[in-house]
Amino acid sequence: MPHHADRPTKLCACCGRPFQWRRKWKDVWDEVRYCSERCRREARRPAYRQRREQSDGG
Ligand SMILES: [Zn+2]
Repeated sequence: MPHHADRPTKLCACCGRPFQWRRKWKDVWDEVRYCSERCRREARRPAYRQRREQSDGG
């Protein structure tokens, strides 16, 4: 039985993929918008909007 099934999830504001709660976010979960540091940085770059249609598989 998956013990992590009841963890909250969000959709990444950059890549649009769902991601699960992580221990490191326990204090800032309400503020978390991106699944990873990489997405967080990408979203801050203006160029990301133009490259959004491309998918490199992570
Ligand atoms: Zn992401």
